[in-house]
Amino acid sequence: MTATRAQGPIQCAPWCAQRDGHPGEKFVEDQRCKSTAVKIRPSLMRTVEGIEPDVEVYREHGPDFEPRVVIYQASSDSQIDVTPTEAWMLVALLEAVAAL
Ligand SMILES: [Zn+2]
Repeated sequence: MTATRAQGPIQCAPWCAQRDGHPGEKFVEDQRCKSTAVKIRPSLMRTVEGIEPDVEVYREHGPDFEPRVVIYQASSDSQIDVTPTEAWMLVALLEAVAAL
């Protein structure tokens, strides 16, 4: 895959934390809008090798992929990417299960 040179700032999403069109990025693929990350530290998870078990959630989109919600788990360095619609489905499922 060949990277495409950026042609100046892009129009940022309204929720983009950077909001400047990402003018410093050299390639179009790097001009990604990312929301402010929200982080929680699950009390039932243990620290692994000095890395806190934080879970970080943010929204992102870029020129080469659809908007997505990212659920990142630091100690396992893994993430789950879901569409915004799937994120709402997860919200409903978590609420239902938590209320049991
Ligand atoms: Zn942006």
